[in-house]
Amino acid sequence: MESKFCERCGNPLERRVVEENHLRPVCPVCGFIVYLNPPIAAGVIAERADGKIALVLRGENPGKGLWGLPAGFMEIDETVEQAAQRECLEETGLRVELRDLLGVWSYHHQEKQTAGVLVVYAARVDGGTPRAGSDSVEVKFFALDEIPDAQLAFATHRDAIARWREKKMSQ
Ligand SMILES: [Zn+2]
Repeated sequence: MESKFCERCGNPLERRVVEENHLRPVCPVCGFIVYLNPPIAAGVIAERADGKIALVLRGENPGKGLWGLPAGFMEIDETVEQAAQRECLEETGLRVELRDLLGVWSYHHQEKQTAGVLVVYAARVDGGTPRAGSDSVEVKFFALDEIPDAQLAFATHRDAIARWREKKMSQ
């Protein structure tokens, strides 16, 4: 979330073009510049032995009432891999073994003022019991041809699932 006040002197920040064309929040009093960098999220395609993957029905916005991959933002003290596994456990109750890095997606929504980087791993469910948790209200396994593309919350998740599906079909 973007701060409205200078963290150094407390004055209100202004948006100014600085450093060759970057619009950044700047403190007009002390000159402090705020660098806005995208947060990193990690997620998994959690595949069960029967080939079905786990999706979560989102209970919170963004994407409330739509399906998504188990995914979320990295904590400061963990690796991307740990974040992917932790988010999966929190949102689905499932423990996963990470297999391959499926891909990295950047997103930037001008209107919603959000941006980020999503890292998705192909993973195998290797323990746990499916149960909704964190900001999910339902966990369900879907076969390759059952995935509700139109009801997926995020374009990045749609792209990740599409890539996973292509890989599966070519195996
Ligand atoms: Zn200042």
